[in-house]
Amino acid sequence: MKLPNYVSDKWVEGAGPGTPLVDPVTGDELARISSDGVDLKAALDLARSHGGPALRQLPYAHPPDLLAKIGELLTANRDEYFRLSLLNLGATQADASFDVDGALYTVKYYAKIGRALAEGKMLKEGAPASLSKSGVFAGQHFLVPAKGVAVFINAFNFPAWGFCEKAAPALLSGVAVFVKPASPTAWLAHKMVEDVVKSGILPPGAISLVCGSARELLDHVREEDLVSFTGSAETAARIRTHANVVHRSVRVNIEADSINSAILGPDCAPGSGLFDLLVKEVLKEITLKAGQKCTTIRRVFAPRQTLKAFGEAVSSCLSATKVGNPRNSEVKVGPVVNKAQQSACFEGLKKLRSECSVIFGGSEDFEPVDADPQKSAFVQPTLLASNDGLASKYIHDVEVFGPVITLIGYEGLKDLIPMVRRGSGSLVASVFSNDSAFLQEVVLGIGDLHGRIVAVDSSVGAQHTGHGNVVPSCLHGGPGRAGGGEELAGLRALLLYHRRFVVQGPTNYIKELSGQCADTSLLYS
Ligand code: NAP
Repeated sequence: MKLPNYVSDKWVEGAGPGTPLVDPVTGDELARISSDGVDLKAALDLARSHGGPALRQLPYAHPPDLLAKIGELLTANRDEYFRLSLLNLGATQADASFDVDGALYTVKYYAKIGRALAEGKMLKEGAPASLSKSGVFAGQHFLVPAKGVAVFINAFNFPAWGFCEKAAPALLSGVAVFVKPASPTAWLAHKMVEDVVKSGILPPGAISLVCGSARELLDHVREEDLVSFTGSAETAARIRTHANVVHRSVRVNIEADSINSAILGPDCAPGSGLFDLLVKEVLKEITLKAGQKCTTIRRVFAPRQTLKAFGEAVSSCLSATKVGNPRNSEVKVGPVVNKAQQSACFEGLKKLRSECSVIFGGSEDFEPVDADPQKSAFVQPTLLASNDGLASKYIHDVEVFGPVITLIGYEGLKDLIPMVRRGSGSLVASVFSNDSAFLQEVVLGIGDLHGRIVAVDSSVGAQHTGHGNVVPSCLHGGPGRAGGGEELAGLRALLLYHRRFVVQGPTNYIKELSGQCADTSLLYS
Protein backbone atom coordinates (compact mmCIF):
# COMPACT_ATOMS: atom_id res chain seq x y z
CA MET A 1 0.00 0.00 0.00
CA LYS A 2 1.36 3.41 -0.98
CA LEU A 3 -0.15 6.37 0.91
CA PRO A 4 -1.15 9.10 -1.56
CA ASN A 5 -0.31 12.79 -1.17
CA TYR A 6 -3.04 15.43 -1.08
CA VAL A 7 -2.02 18.34 -3.32
CA SER A 8 -3.92 20.79 -5.56
CA ASP A 9 -7.18 19.46 -4.13
CA LYS A 10 -6.60 15.86 -5.24
CA TRP A 11 -4.99 12.65 -4.00
CA VAL A 12 -1.83 11.86 -5.93
CA GLU A 13 0.37 8.78 -5.58
CA GLY A 14 4.09 9.51 -5.63
CA ALA A 15 6.23 7.78 -8.24
CA GLY A 16 8.78 4.99 -7.75
CA PRO A 17 9.01 2.27 -5.12
CA GLY A 18 8.69 4.73 -2.22
CA THR A 19 10.04 4.59 1.34
CA PRO A 20 8.74 1.83 3.62
CA LEU A 21 7.07 2.61 6.96
CA VAL A 22 7.83 -0.13 9.48
CA ASP A 23 6.53 -1.50 12.74
CA PRO A 24 9.43 -0.86 15.16
CA VAL A 25 8.51 -3.93 17.24
CA THR A 26 8.30 -6.55 14.49
CA GLY A 27 10.26 -4.85 11.73
CA ASP A 28 7.32 -5.57 9.36
CA GLU A 29 6.64 -3.20 6.50
CA LEU A 30 3.28 -1.43 6.96
CA ALA A 31 2.96 0.92 3.99
CA ARG A 32 5.04 3.05 1.65
CA ILE A 33 5.24 6.76 0.97
CA SER A 34 6.63 8.75 -1.91
CA SER A 35 6.60 12.40 -2.93
CA ASP A 36 8.46 11.74 -6.17
CA GLY A 37 6.90 13.42 -9.19
CA VAL A 38 4.42 15.42 -7.08
CA ASP A 39 4.01 19.00 -8.33
CA LEU A 40 4.91 20.86 -5.13
CA LYS A 41 4.90 24.28 -6.78
CA ALA A 42 1.34 23.84 -8.08
CA ALA A 43 0.21 22.69 -4.64
CA LEU A 44 1.63 25.83 -3.00
CA ASP A 45 0.10 28.00 -5.74
CA LEU A 46 -3.39 26.59 -5.14
CA ALA A 47 -3.05 27.04 -1.39
CA ARG A 48 -2.17 30.72 -1.96
CA SER A 49 -4.75 31.43 -4.64
CA HIS A 50 -7.72 29.48 -3.21
CA GLY A 51 -7.15 27.93 0.22
CA GLY A 52 -6.03 31.03 2.12
CA PRO A 53 -8.49 33.45 0.47
CA ALA A 54 -11.41 31.10 1.19
CA LEU A 55 -10.38 30.92 4.86
CA ARG A 56 -10.05 34.71 5.10
CA GLN A 57 -13.28 35.51 3.28
CA LEU A 58 -15.13 35.73 6.57
CA PRO A 59 -13.96 37.52 9.73
CA TYR A 60 -12.06 35.83 12.56
CA ALA A 61 -15.38 34.52 13.87
CA HIS A 62 -15.41 31.82 11.15
CA PRO A 63 -12.26 29.70 11.75
CA PRO A 64 -13.08 28.76 15.38
CA ASP A 65 -16.19 26.97 14.05
CA LEU A 66 -14.06 25.09 11.52
CA LEU A 67 -11.58 24.15 14.25
CA ALA A 68 -14.38 22.99 16.56
CA LYS A 69 -15.68 20.71 13.79
CA ILE A 70 -12.16 19.37 13.15
CA GLY A 71 -11.79 18.74 16.90
CA GLU A 72 -15.04 16.73 16.96
CA LEU A 73 -14.11 14.80 13.84
CA LEU A 74 -10.65 13.84 15.10
CA THR A 75 -12.06 12.86 18.48
CA ALA A 76 -14.54 10.52 16.79
CA ASN A 77 -11.60 8.76 15.07
CA ARG A 78 -9.34 8.63 18.14
CA ASP A 79 -9.27 4.80 18.34
CA GLU A 80 -7.88 4.54 14.82
CA TYR A 81 -5.12 7.04 15.68
CA PHE A 82 -4.20 4.93 18.70
CA ARG A 83 -4.06 1.85 16.44
CA LEU A 84 -1.70 3.57 14.01
CA SER A 85 0.42 4.89 16.90
CA LEU A 86 0.94 1.33 18.07
CA LEU A 87 1.70 0.03 14.57
CA ASN A 88 3.99 2.75 13.24
CA LEU A 89 5.52 4.14 16.47
CA GLY A 90 5.38 1.12 18.79
CA ALA A 91 3.46 3.39 21.17
CA THR A 92 2.09 2.22 24.50
CA GLN A 93 -1.38 3.54 25.43
CA ALA A 94 0.29 6.30 27.46
CA ASP A 95 2.59 7.22 24.55
CA ALA A 96 -0.31 7.33 22.09
CA SER A 97 -2.38 9.39 24.47
CA PHE A 98 0.42 11.92 24.94
CA ASP A 99 0.56 12.54 21.19
CA VAL A 100 -3.05 11.99 20.06
CA ASP A 101 -4.97 13.34 23.05
CA GLY A 102 -2.51 16.24 23.23
CA ALA A 103 -3.36 16.98 19.59
CA LEU A 104 -7.12 16.81 20.14
CA TYR A 105 -6.92 18.98 23.25
CA THR A 106 -4.87 21.61 21.43
CA VAL A 107 -7.31 21.85 18.50
CA LYS A 108 -10.28 22.20 20.87
CA TYR A 109 -8.42 24.73 23.01
CA TYR A 110 -7.81 26.97 19.98
CA ALA A 111 -11.41 26.53 18.79
CA LYS A 112 -12.47 27.84 22.19
CA ILE A 113 -10.08 30.74 22.72
CA GLY A 114 -10.29 31.81 19.08
CA ARG A 115 -13.83 33.04 19.69
CA ALA A 116 -12.41 36.08 21.46
CA LEU A 117 -11.30 37.44 18.06
CA ALA A 118 -14.80 37.61 16.60
CA GLU A 119 -14.57 41.00 14.84
CA GLY A 120 -12.68 42.15 11.75
CA LYS A 121 -10.15 40.73 9.32
CA MET A 122 -7.05 42.20 10.89
CA LEU A 123 -5.88 43.22 14.37
CA LYS A 124 -5.13 46.68 15.71
CA GLU A 125 -1.98 47.01 17.83
CA GLY A 126 -1.59 49.72 20.43
CA ALA A 127 -2.74 53.34 20.30
CA PRO A 128 -2.42 55.66 17.28
CA ALA A 129 0.68 57.87 17.17
CA SER A 130 0.00 61.52 16.35
CA LEU A 131 2.18 62.60 13.41
CA SER A 132 1.08 66.21 12.77
CA LYS A 133 0.86 69.46 14.72
CA SER A 134 -2.89 69.81 14.20
CA GLY A 135 -3.60 66.12 14.77
CA VAL A 136 -5.01 65.43 11.27
CA PHE A 137 -2.33 62.87 10.41
CA ALA A 138 -1.53 59.79 12.52
CA GLY A 139 0.04 56.32 12.45
CA GLN A 140 -1.53 53.07 13.64
CA HIS A 141 0.03 49.61 13.78
CA PHE A 142 -1.94 46.60 12.58
CA LEU A 143 -1.40 42.86 12.22
CA VAL A 144 -2.81 41.21 9.11
CA PRO A 145 -2.85 37.45 8.30
CA ALA A 146 -0.10 36.37 5.88
CA LYS A 147 -1.47 35.74 2.39
CA GLY A 148 0.88 32.84 1.79
CA VAL A 149 1.05 29.24 2.94
CA ALA A 150 2.19 27.90 6.32
CA VAL A 151 4.56 25.05 5.46
CA PHE A 152 4.93 22.59 8.35
CA ILE A 153 7.97 20.31 8.31
CA ASN A 154 7.59 18.03 11.31
CA ALA A 155 9.62 15.61 13.41
CA PHE A 156 8.88 11.88 13.65
CA ASN A 157 8.09 11.76 17.36
CA PHE A 158 4.80 13.70 17.39
CA PRO A 159 2.96 12.97 14.15
CA ALA A 160 -0.44 13.93 15.62
CA TRP A 161 0.38 16.76 18.03
CA GLY A 162 3.03 18.22 15.72
CA PHE A 163 0.46 18.61 12.95
CA CYS A 164 -2.35 19.91 15.18
CA GLU A 165 -0.41 22.33 17.38
CA LYS A 166 0.84 24.10 14.23
CA ALA A 167 -2.36 23.84 12.15
CA ALA A 168 -4.76 25.15 14.83
CA PRO A 169 -3.29 28.68 15.18
CA ALA A 170 -2.56 28.89 11.43
CA LEU A 171 -6.15 28.06 10.47
CA LEU A 172 -7.42 30.40 13.18
CA SER A 173 -5.37 33.13 11.50
CA GLY A 174 -6.88 32.28 8.10
CA VAL A 175 -3.67 30.86 6.64
CA ALA A 176 -3.64 27.73 4.45
CA VAL A 177 -1.49 24.87 5.73
CA PHE A 178 0.90 22.52 3.93
CA VAL A 179 1.82 19.49 6.03
CA LYS A 180 5.05 17.53 5.54
CA PRO A 181 5.28 14.90 8.30
CA ALA A 182 8.56 13.13 9.03
CA SER A 183 8.86 10.07 6.83
CA PRO A 184 9.30 7.27 9.41
CA THR A 185 5.94 7.92 11.14
CA ALA A 186 3.96 9.69 8.43
CA TRP A 187 0.98 7.32 8.57
CA LEU A 188 -0.74 8.88 11.59
CA ALA A 189 -0.52 12.47 10.29
CA HIS A 190 -1.62 11.14 6.89
CA LYS A 191 -4.72 9.56 8.42
CA MET A 192 -5.64 12.71 10.34
CA VAL A 193 -5.29 14.92 7.28
CA GLU A 194 -7.21 12.36 5.20
CA ASP A 195 -10.08 12.49 7.72
CA VAL A 196 -10.12 16.30 7.62
CA VAL A 197 -10.06 16.37 3.81
CA LYS A 198 -12.81 13.76 3.47
CA SER A 199 -15.02 15.64 5.93
CA GLY A 200 -15.09 18.66 3.60
CA ILE A 201 -14.76 21.00 6.60
CA LEU A 202 -11.98 23.01 4.96
CA PRO A 203 -12.21 24.71 1.56
CA PRO A 204 -10.07 23.36 -1.34
CA GLY A 205 -6.42 24.33 -1.00
CA ALA A 206 -6.70 25.11 2.73
CA ILE A 207 -4.81 21.92 3.59
CA SER A 208 -2.19 19.97 1.61
CA LEU A 209 -0.16 16.93 2.57
CA VAL A 210 3.09 15.56 1.22
CA CYS A 211 4.56 12.35 2.64
CA GLY A 212 8.13 11.44 1.77
CA SER A 213 11.06 13.64 0.95
CA ALA A 214 10.51 17.43 0.97
CA ARG A 215 12.49 17.42 -2.30
CA GLU A 216 12.72 20.95 -3.72
CA LEU A 217 9.77 22.27 -1.66
CA LEU A 218 11.78 25.16 -0.23
CA ASP A 219 12.72 26.35 -3.74
CA HIS A 220 9.05 27.29 -4.19
CA VAL A 221 8.28 29.14 -0.97
CA ARG A 222 7.70 32.87 -1.34
CA GLU A 223 7.90 36.04 0.72
CA GLU A 224 4.30 35.75 1.92
CA ASP A 225 4.77 32.13 3.10
CA LEU A 226 6.28 30.88 6.31
CA VAL A 227 8.07 27.69 7.23
CA SER A 228 7.50 26.17 10.64
CA PHE A 229 10.04 23.43 11.24
CA THR A 230 10.40 20.90 14.06
CA GLY A 231 13.31 18.49 14.06
CA SER A 232 17.01 18.21 14.61
CA ALA A 233 19.36 21.18 14.88
CA GLU A 234 21.24 19.82 11.86
CA THR A 235 18.22 19.91 9.51
CA ALA A 236 17.18 23.23 11.04
CA ALA A 237 20.47 24.77 9.94
CA ARG A 238 19.89 23.51 6.39
CA ILE A 239 16.41 25.02 6.29
CA ARG A 240 17.46 28.34 7.79
CA THR A 241 20.25 28.75 5.26
CA HIS A 242 18.37 27.46 2.21
CA ALA A 243 19.18 29.86 -0.66
CA ASN A 244 15.57 30.66 -1.61
CA VAL A 245 14.54 31.06 2.03
CA VAL A 246 17.41 33.49 2.59
CA HIS A 247 16.91 35.31 -0.72
CA ARG A 248 13.20 35.95 -0.11
CA SER A 249 13.49 36.47 3.69
CA VAL A 250 10.87 33.78 4.21
CA ARG A 251 9.82 33.72 7.86
CA VAL A 252 11.10 30.56 9.55
CA ASN A 253 10.18 29.22 12.97
CA ILE A 254 12.51 26.54 14.28
CA GLU A 255 11.79 24.08 17.09
CA ALA A 256 14.93 21.99 17.36
CA ASP A 257 16.56 19.64 19.83
CA SER A 258 17.33 20.42 23.43
CA ILE A 259 19.37 19.18 26.37
CA ASN A 260 16.74 19.88 29.04
CA SER A 261 17.49 19.97 32.75
CA ALA A 262 15.80 19.09 36.00
CA ILE A 263 17.30 20.47 39.20
CA LEU A 264 16.92 19.11 42.72
CA GLY A 265 17.41 21.86 45.30
CA PRO A 266 19.96 21.54 48.14
CA ASP A 267 17.06 21.47 50.61
CA CYS A 268 15.58 18.24 49.15
CA ALA A 269 17.09 15.41 51.18
CA PRO A 270 16.52 11.77 50.20
CA GLY A 271 13.03 10.72 51.26
CA SER A 272 11.67 14.27 51.30
CA GLY A 273 8.48 15.00 49.37
CA LEU A 274 10.22 16.93 46.58
CA PHE A 275 12.99 14.32 46.26
CA ASP A 276 10.35 11.63 45.71
CA LEU A 277 8.41 13.86 43.34
CA LEU A 278 11.44 14.40 41.12
CA VAL A 279 12.22 10.67 41.16
CA LYS A 280 8.68 10.11 39.85
CA GLU A 281 9.10 12.80 37.21
CA VAL A 282 12.42 11.36 36.00
CA LEU A 283 10.83 7.93 35.77
CA LYS A 284 7.97 9.35 33.70
CA GLU A 285 10.37 11.22 31.44
CA ILE A 286 12.64 8.26 30.74
CA THR A 287 9.76 5.85 30.04
CA LEU A 288 7.16 7.98 28.20
CA LYS A 289 7.57 7.68 24.42
CA ALA A 290 10.84 5.86 25.23
CA GLY A 291 12.42 9.25 25.90
CA GLN A 292 11.59 10.51 22.39
CA LYS A 293 10.21 13.89 23.40
CA CYS A 294 11.94 17.14 22.59
CA THR A 295 11.18 18.24 26.15
CA THR A 296 12.44 15.08 27.87
CA ILE A 297 14.77 15.59 30.82
CA ARG A 298 18.29 14.79 29.58
CA ARG A 299 20.26 16.04 32.61
CA VAL A 300 19.31 15.88 36.28
CA PHE A 301 21.34 18.11 38.57
CA ALA A 302 21.39 16.98 42.20
CA PRO A 303 23.53 18.12 45.16
CA ARG A 304 26.67 15.98 45.17
CA GLN A 305 25.79 14.38 48.52
CA THR A 306 22.32 13.38 47.24
CA LEU A 307 23.33 12.05 43.83
CA LYS A 308 23.88 8.43 44.88
CA ALA A 309 20.55 8.17 46.73
CA PHE A 310 18.76 9.75 43.79
CA GLY A 311 20.32 7.29 41.35
CA GLU A 312 19.37 4.35 43.57
CA ALA A 313 15.77 5.53 43.87
CA VAL A 314 15.32 5.91 40.10
CA SER A 315 17.15 2.61 39.39
CA SER A 316 14.94 0.73 41.80
CA CYS A 317 11.84 1.96 39.92
CA LEU A 318 13.43 1.19 36.55
CA SER A 319 14.28 -2.37 37.53
CA ALA A 320 10.54 -3.01 38.00
CA THR A 321 9.61 -1.42 34.65
CA LYS A 322 8.87 -3.76 31.74
CA VAL A 323 10.34 -2.79 28.37
CA GLY A 324 9.08 -4.46 25.21
CA ASN A 325 6.15 -5.03 22.90
CA PRO A 326 3.38 -2.58 23.87
CA ARG A 327 0.79 -5.22 22.88
CA ASN A 328 1.71 -6.82 26.22
CA SER A 329 -0.34 -4.88 28.81
CA GLU A 330 2.45 -5.07 31.43
CA VAL A 331 4.90 -3.19 29.20
CA LYS A 332 5.55 0.43 30.14
CA VAL A 333 8.35 1.31 27.68
CA GLY A 334 8.13 0.72 23.94
CA PRO A 335 10.82 0.83 21.23
CA VAL A 336 12.40 3.85 19.60
CA VAL A 337 10.98 4.53 16.21
CA ASN A 338 13.28 2.48 13.96
CA LYS A 339 16.66 0.80 13.62
CA ALA A 340 18.29 4.05 12.44
CA GLN A 341 17.19 5.83 15.62
CA GLN A 342 18.34 2.85 17.69
CA SER A 343 21.81 3.07 16.13
CA ALA A 344 21.89 6.86 16.69
CA CYS A 345 21.01 6.26 20.37
CA PHE A 346 23.77 3.66 20.77
CA GLU A 347 26.26 6.01 19.16
CA GLY A 348 25.29 8.91 21.44
CA LEU A 349 25.28 6.64 24.46
CA LYS A 350 28.88 5.61 23.73
CA LYS A 351 29.92 9.25 23.88
CA LEU A 352 28.07 9.86 27.15
CA ARG A 353 29.52 6.70 28.67
CA SER A 354 33.03 7.93 27.91
CA GLU A 355 32.52 10.58 30.62
CA CYS A 356 29.98 8.89 32.94
CA SER A 357 29.42 5.80 35.03
CA VAL A 358 26.41 3.60 34.26
CA ILE A 359 23.96 3.35 37.17
CA PHE A 360 21.26 1.42 35.34
CA GLY A 361 20.86 -0.23 31.94
CA GLY A 362 23.19 0.62 29.09
CA SER A 363 23.22 -2.82 27.50
CA GLU A 364 22.84 -3.14 23.74
CA ASP A 365 22.01 -6.82 24.21
CA PHE A 366 19.14 -6.63 26.65
CA GLU A 367 16.04 -8.75 25.94
CA PRO A 368 12.81 -6.82 25.36
CA VAL A 369 9.56 -8.51 26.41
CA ASP A 370 7.74 -10.29 23.52
CA ALA A 371 9.99 -8.90 20.80
CA ASP A 372 12.89 -10.14 18.71
CA PRO A 373 15.95 -7.99 19.48
CA GLN A 374 17.23 -8.52 15.93
CA LYS A 375 14.10 -7.17 14.26
CA SER A 376 12.92 -4.62 16.82
CA ALA A 377 14.35 -1.21 17.73
CA PHE A 378 14.59 -1.09 21.52
CA VAL A 379 16.96 0.92 23.68
CA GLN A 380 17.24 -0.15 27.29
CA PRO A 381 16.32 2.68 29.69
CA THR A 382 19.68 3.92 30.91
CA LEU A 383 20.72 6.08 33.83
CA LEU A 384 24.22 7.56 33.85
CA ALA A 385 26.03 9.61 36.47
CA SER A 386 28.71 12.25 36.28
CA ASN A 387 30.58 13.65 39.21
CA ASP A 388 32.55 16.07 37.09
CA GLY A 389 29.92 17.96 35.12
CA LEU A 390 32.07 21.07 34.77
CA ALA A 391 34.86 19.22 33.01
CA SER A 392 32.54 17.10 30.85
CA LYS A 393 31.54 17.90 27.28
CA TYR A 394 29.16 15.34 25.80
CA ILE A 395 26.63 15.32 28.66
CA HIS A 396 25.84 18.95 27.84
CA ASP A 397 25.69 18.67 24.08
CA VAL A 398 24.83 15.17 22.89
CA GLU A 399 21.07 14.60 22.65
CA VAL A 400 20.46 10.86 22.84
CA PHE A 401 16.89 10.80 21.53
CA GLY A 402 15.80 7.82 23.60
CA PRO A 403 15.38 6.62 27.20
CA VAL A 404 18.69 7.94 28.52
CA ILE A 405 19.18 10.41 31.38
CA THR A 406 22.39 11.62 33.03
CA LEU A 407 22.61 12.57 36.72
CA ILE A 408 25.13 15.29 37.45
CA GLY A 409 26.34 16.32 40.90
CA TYR A 410 26.74 19.97 41.86
CA GLU A 411 28.25 21.78 44.84
CA GLY A 412 26.30 25.02 44.82
CA LEU A 413 24.82 27.67 42.56
CA LYS A 414 28.26 28.72 41.37
CA ASP A 415 28.75 25.50 39.42
CA LEU A 416 25.07 24.63 38.89
CA ILE A 417 24.17 27.69 36.81
CA PRO A 418 27.15 27.46 34.39
CA MET A 419 26.53 23.74 33.88
CA VAL A 420 22.82 24.19 33.10
CA ARG A 421 23.72 27.01 30.71
CA ARG A 422 26.01 24.67 28.79
CA GLY A 423 22.88 23.19 27.20
CA SER A 424 23.29 26.33 25.04
CA GLY A 425 19.60 27.11 24.94
CA SER A 426 16.86 24.67 25.96
CA LEU A 427 13.13 24.18 25.77
CA VAL A 428 12.60 23.55 29.46
CA ALA A 429 14.19 23.27 32.89
CA SER A 430 12.38 22.25 36.05
CA VAL A 431 13.47 23.15 39.57
CA PHE A 432 12.33 21.29 42.65
CA SER A 433 12.94 23.21 45.88
CA ASN A 434 11.23 24.82 48.87
CA ASP A 435 13.99 27.42 49.08
CA SER A 436 12.53 30.50 47.38
CA ALA A 437 15.93 32.26 47.31
CA PHE A 438 17.41 29.25 45.48
CA LEU A 439 14.49 29.20 43.00
CA GLN A 440 14.98 32.91 42.39
CA GLU A 441 18.73 32.53 41.72
CA VAL A 442 18.10 29.67 39.31
CA VAL A 443 15.37 31.52 37.40
CA LEU A 444 17.56 34.63 37.10
CA GLY A 445 20.61 32.55 36.20
CA ILE A 446 19.09 30.45 33.39
CA GLY A 447 15.86 32.21 32.30
CA ASP A 448 17.43 33.87 29.25
CA LEU A 449 18.48 30.47 27.85
CA HIS A 450 15.17 28.67 28.39
CA GLY A 451 11.71 28.84 26.86
CA ARG A 452 9.99 27.42 29.94
CA ILE A 453 10.89 26.95 33.59
CA VAL A 454 8.80 24.74 35.85
CA ALA A 455 9.20 25.62 39.54
CA VAL A 456 7.86 23.04 41.98
CA ASP A 457 7.71 23.41 45.76
CA SER A 458 5.71 21.52 48.35
CA SER A 459 2.70 23.80 47.99
CA VAL A 460 2.35 22.61 44.36
CA GLY A 461 3.19 18.98 45.09
CA ALA A 462 2.04 16.63 42.35
CA GLN A 463 -0.33 19.20 40.85
CA HIS A 464 2.23 20.67 38.44
CA THR A 465 1.64 20.13 34.71
CA GLY A 466 4.82 18.12 34.20
CA HIS A 467 8.35 18.82 33.01
CA GLY A 468 7.82 17.36 29.55
CA ASN A 469 4.22 18.34 29.01
CA VAL A 470 3.61 21.24 26.64
CA VAL A 471 0.34 23.02 27.41
CA PRO A 472 -1.18 25.20 24.66
CA SER A 473 -1.74 28.16 26.98
CA CYS A 474 2.02 28.45 27.65
CA LEU A 475 5.04 29.09 25.43
CA HIS A 476 6.77 26.20 23.66
CA GLY A 477 10.17 26.85 22.15
CA GLY A 478 13.59 27.85 23.34
CA PRO A 479 16.55 29.98 22.37
CA GLY A 480 19.92 28.97 20.94
CA ARG A 481 20.29 25.29 20.27
CA ALA A 482 16.54 24.76 20.82
CA GLY A 483 16.02 26.72 17.60
CA GLY A 484 14.96 30.17 18.79
CA GLY A 485 11.33 29.49 17.84
CA GLU A 486 8.11 30.26 19.64
CA GLU A 487 4.88 28.27 19.43
CA LEU A 488 1.60 28.12 21.32
CA ALA A 489 1.31 30.49 24.34
CA GLY A 490 -2.43 30.90 23.77
CA LEU A 491 -3.40 33.42 21.10
CA ARG A 492 0.20 34.69 20.94
CA ALA A 493 0.66 31.76 18.52
CA LEU A 494 -1.23 33.80 15.92
CA LEU A 495 1.67 36.29 15.73
CA LEU A 496 3.66 33.83 13.60
CA TYR A 497 0.92 33.84 10.98
CA HIS A 498 0.37 37.61 10.93
CA ARG A 499 2.47 40.50 9.60
CA ARG A 500 2.82 43.80 11.40
CA PHE A 501 2.53 47.00 9.37
CA VAL A 502 1.71 50.60 10.09
CA VAL A 503 -0.78 52.84 8.30
CA GLN A 504 0.12 56.54 8.32
CA GLY A 505 -2.83 58.60 7.13
CA PRO A 506 -5.69 60.93 7.94
CA THR A 507 -6.64 60.51 11.59
CA ASN A 508 -10.30 60.03 10.69
CA TYR A 509 -9.50 57.26 8.23
CA ILE A 510 -7.30 55.55 10.81
CA LYS A 511 -10.10 55.71 13.36
CA GLU A 512 -12.50 54.20 10.84
CA LEU A 513 -10.04 51.42 9.95
CA SER A 514 -9.30 50.70 13.61
CA GLY A 515 -12.99 50.53 14.43
CA GLN A 516 -13.29 47.35 12.34
CA CYS A 517 -10.48 45.52 14.15
CA ALA A 518 -10.11 43.44 17.29
CA ASP A 519 -7.26 44.61 19.50
CA THR A 520 -4.00 42.66 19.80
CA SER A 521 -4.28 42.97 23.59
CA LEU A 522 -6.59 39.94 23.22
CA LEU A 523 -3.55 37.91 22.20
CA TYR A 524 -2.00 38.49 25.61
CA SER A 525 -5.05 38.02 27.81
P1 NAP B 1 14.99 15.56 11.33
O1 NAP B 1 15.73 14.39 10.81
O2 NAP B 1 15.69 16.85 11.44
O3 NAP B 1 13.70 15.69 10.38
C1 NAP B 1 12.70 16.63 10.66
C2 NAP B 1 11.90 16.91 9.40
O4 NAP B 1 12.72 17.58 8.44
C3 NAP B 1 11.40 15.65 8.70
O5 NAP B 1 10.09 15.90 8.22
C4 NAP B 1 12.38 15.49 7.55
O6 NAP B 1 11.84 14.78 6.46
C5 NAP B 1 12.60 16.92 7.18
N1 NAP B 1 13.81 17.20 6.42
C6 NAP B 1 14.99 16.55 6.46
N2 NAP B 1 15.87 17.15 5.62
C7 NAP B 1 15.21 18.18 5.04
C8 NAP B 1 15.57 19.17 4.07
N3 NAP B 1 16.80 19.22 3.56
N4 NAP B 1 14.63 20.07 3.68
C9 NAP B 1 13.39 20.04 4.20
N5 NAP B 1 13.00 19.12 5.13
C10 NAP B 1 13.90 18.22 5.53
O7 NAP B 1 14.38 15.28 12.77
P2 NAP B 1 13.62 13.96 13.28
O8 NAP B 1 14.65 12.88 13.36
O9 NAP B 1 12.38 13.71 12.51
O10 NAP B 1 13.16 14.40 14.74
C11 NAP B 1 13.93 14.24 15.90
C12 NAP B 1 14.49 15.56 16.37
O11 NAP B 1 13.46 16.53 16.47
C13 NAP B 1 15.11 15.48 17.74
O12 NAP B 1 16.36 16.08 17.71
C14 NAP B 1 14.15 16.28 18.63
O13 NAP B 1 14.76 16.90 19.72
C15 NAP B 1 13.58 17.26 17.68
N6 NAP B 1 12.24 17.71 18.12
C16 NAP B 1 12.07 18.98 18.55
C17 NAP B 1 10.82 19.42 18.95
C18 NAP B 1 10.60 20.82 19.44
O14 NAP B 1 9.44 21.23 19.54
N7 NAP B 1 11.63 21.59 19.72
C19 NAP B 1 9.73 18.54 18.92
C20 NAP B 1 9.94 17.24 18.46
C21 NAP B 1 11.21 16.84 18.06
P3 NAP B 1 12.17 13.20 6.28
O15 NAP B 1 11.67 12.52 7.51
O16 NAP B 1 11.41 12.86 5.06
O17 NAP B 1 13.66 13.10 6.12
